[in-house]
Amino acid sequence: MPGKKTAELTAVVTQPDRLRYFSEHRDRIVATISELVEIESPSDHKQSVDRIAAFLALKFEALGGRTHLHRSDDFGDSLQIEFSGSSTQPTCKPVLLLGHYDTVYPFGTLANMPCEVRNGRLHGPGALDMKSGIALMLHAIEALQAWHGELPRPVIVFLVSDEEVGSRSSRRITEALARKSAGVLVLEPAAGLRGAVKTARKGVGEYTLRVRGVAAHAGLDPGKGHSAILELARQIAVVAELNNLQQGVSVNPGVVHGGTRTNVVAAEASVGIDVRIKSAKQASGIDRKLRSLKPFDKHCKLEITGGINRLPMERTAGVAALYKKAQKIADEIGWTLDEAAVGGGSDGNFTAGMGIPTLDGLGGVGEGAHATHEFIVISELPRRALLLAGMIESA
Ligand SMILES: [Zn+2]
Repeated sequence: MPGKKTAELTAVVTQPDRLRYFSEHRDRIVATISELVEIESPSDHKQSVDRIAAFLALKFEALGGRTHLHRSDDFGDSLQIEFSGSSTQPTCKPVLLLGHYDTVYPFGTLANMPCEVRNGRLHGPGALDMKSGIALMLHAIEALQAWHGELPRPVIVFLVSDEEVGSRSSRRITEALARKSAGVLVLEPAAGLRGAVKTARKGVGEYTLRVRGVAAHAGLDPGKGHSAILELARQIAVVAELNNLQQGVSVNPGVVHGGTRTNVVAAEASVGIDVRIKSAKQASGIDRKLRSLKPFDKHCKLEITGGINRLPMERTAGVAALYKKAQKIADEIGWTLDEAAVGGGSDGNFTAGMGIPTLDGLGGVGEGAHATHEFIVISELPRRALLLAGMIESA
């Protein structure tokens, strides 16, 4: 909560003043995003992810942040930054700004997908998802310091190295930091070109179903074999029946492996399954059904591995309250800020799942995340920065 001193200063710097400030700083924000896009950082390339972590540590230290690298052997290092708040607000809980600097693009992508400005858009791998979000953090913190002399409250920034591959090395840290925070602001891209913030996200699960059958010569002994492929085909039909798009449940058998040669009855086959759910209850229901699949052919054995990775981010009262604050800030510059429920998961799912008020999709506005035409709309940057600065004060 902004204190008295903060409230007075906020009154001095009105939202229209702030919009002017960020419009004047727009090219600097674009320059920061370009710097980050130029440092390629695919999740599976530790060396380059560590390079962007070190680069960002220097950037945040220049603003007075205390940085700490969380080392990881299997993934890139994740970066935690802490800022003290106003000396008049020593007991105020911090707000957590959450993001990731890993991208889905293989090393060398910049050669074919350069970082460049065309028609008011900044293109490049990770420009939208989510290097613009990280740049917004830097510039919003810098602006708050300029307006208030110091940050109006403590701020923790946590930038993870492995969000695009399931956040295995960073999840526990994200959850520990969220637990001591008043709220979580996730700088993932906004939803659609209207720039809606995300107040609900589906949960995500990943499973593998393996079938072990009995091999036999397809010509000499076909009757002795029990085909793992045939069994898998029947199981896939059962799994597909779990789809309930109206209720927001989708189950996709996306990758199939099996067999060795056409003249052998297959001894092994497997399918990788992507699961999306809207509620925690659906998550446990789907999990139970997948684990209780029974073989059609008694000579075949089934094995299911995997599970729900991210529980859904549900639109709780805490989430709705944060959205209301965001709407109010937007309203002061005549901007109608929409909300959206989306299918993809983020680290915001973890923090919302713990019951910590979380608002997602506060980052850049654009299209083509994970695709060759990925871009952000440059003219949207000033009001995104304004919104983030306001949310840091009031979340
Ligand atoms: Zn992302």
